[in-house]
Amino acid sequence: MANMNSSGAAIICSHCATGGYPILLAERSDSDNDPVDSGWQFICNVELHDDVKEARVWALDEVVEMEPTLKEFINLPPSARLARKDKESPWLMEDHFDEAIAAFHCAIRLAPKAEGVSLNLFHYLWRLGKKDEALEEVKRFMSIGDSKDYREIVKERRAPKVTVTRQGNSLCQKGCYPLALVFC
Ligand SMILES: [Zn+2]
Repeated sequence: MANMNSSGAAIICSHCATGGYPILLAERSDSDNDPVDSGWQFICNVELHDDVKEARVWALDEVVEMEPTLKEFINLPPSARLARKDKESPWLMEDHFDEAIAAFHCAIRLAPKAEGVSLNLFHYLWRLGKKDEALEEVKRFMSIGDSKDYREIVKERRAPKVTVTRQGNSLCQKGCYPLALVFC
């Protein structure tokens, strides 16, 4: 249950850890529910990192303390990747999170009672740390339908691990890409 925890260990390159370089790239890999490993990796994106000696292990909290601008992104799911041009630039998310959420909302407008779509949206919002919005979706769906999964989620107060893949390149009528979530 400690997966997706915003604590645990993170990898940081020596240049950022002790060399005074700013962190310019942050990536989260899948930590296989390891409660100790946050899955986050932070690098300067300037020097080469081809030697394991360049890697330092820090507590995630220490990284955020050094670089507070990362705080709002720390609960992003595995496969999240953030980059910025320099220390003064904003972080950009190299992914399709907003696109994914728009696609699910779009699908729900077309089929409000589709349980699978609703569950996808729920899990996606949940994984992005948007738990209030996720629970709103549970309420919306349960007011017009019934879902065993939702009943269990509400009972256990948890959401399973999830990853996102894009399904093809064709746009729906509203201009969103259809996306699929893979539950592991
Ligand atoms: Zn580095």
